[in-house]
Amino acid sequence: GTRRGLHGSLRRFEAGMEEALKERHALEVDLRRALDEDEIVPFYQPLIALDGDRLIGFEVLARWQHPTRGLIPPAAFIPLAEEIGRIGELFDKLLVRACSDARSWPSDLRLSVNISPTQFAEPQMASRILDILAKENFAPARLELEITENALVDEVSSARLILTTLRNVGVSVALDDFGTGYSSLRHLSDLPVDRLKIDRGFVESARLNEEGWRIVRAIVQLAGTFDLATTAEGIEAPEILSTLRELGCDIGQGYLFGKPISAEQTSLWLLGRPLPTALAS
Ligand code: C2E
Ligand code: MG
Ligand code: MG
Ligand code: MG
Repeated sequence: GTRRGLHGSLRRFEAGMEEALKERHALEVDLRRALDEDEIVPFYQPLIALDGDRLIGFEVLARWQHPTRGLIPPAAFIPLAEEIGRIGELFDKLLVRACSDARSWPSDLRLSVNISPTQFAEPQMASRILDILAKENFAPARLELEITENALVDEVSSARLILTTLRNVGVSVALDDFGTGYSSLRHLSDLPVDRLKIDRGFVESARLNEEGWRIVRAIVQLAGTFDLATTAEGIEAPEILSTLRELGCDIGQGYLFGKPISAEQTSLWLLGRPLPTALAS
């Protein structure tokens, strides 16, 4: 009767939990191995200045090139890398690799790299980044760090210190996914920030209706008030692009310009060569 039913579902629940724990453990072992073997690599998505459609650089996006499972997106491993305390190492490796890839590109191109909130807990973060840039001979002014607002909630004072140090030597700072996190408008005047990145979700809703434009327009205006630049991500449609241009948004990113692609594909793309269709994912 009811008792046995309860026991049965409890047992199924426990079995499910055990299964999930096993899976997580397997993924963790696999990720530790992947980090040691450099299977996490940077992909690059073009950033386009909207006045004149010039390529100004790339956002660096992590991909796990898994030997048997193929290409794994960041959402499937970044949170775990944070949990097991290896996100700083992952960041460092991506930055080194990106600086080295950028050596064969036009020397004015910039890199925007995502930084995880948990990295601000490490006081040596700024000097580690500057060491990498010096060793790779990559000018700090060509680097932008993308941070999420949540990072600032947890570690405001250490974030301010670290970002100020980096900004003093020319690194710039963007607030990523702006408007989606637990943010405070005070961060805009309190923290060393150069740019707001308008979240893809807002840009997508703008495609649907006039109502959706209100948030995008408000963010661009807010940015103007605080002397910040803006990047719109997730631009897929030409009509969205032209309206963003009219609003005065200065940089655009999205499938309309290009998806994130590997270093090899990026070099081909920069040379103006068509990507082999097998690669043009
Ligand atoms: P994000 O920093 O907001 O990056 C933009 C995401 O939007 C990327 O997803 C990009 O591929 C996607 N995107 C850009 N334009 C379009 C578009 O037009 N249409 C669609 N459908 N998508 C578009 P991705 O590469 O899967 O990265 C997801 C998130 O993972 C990133 O969001 C970032 O928060 C995080 N991430 C990626 N690489 C790293 C990393 O190296 N370190 C850290 N801490 N986080 C990372
Ligand atoms: Mg980003
Ligand atoms: Mg973003
Ligand atoms: Mg986003």
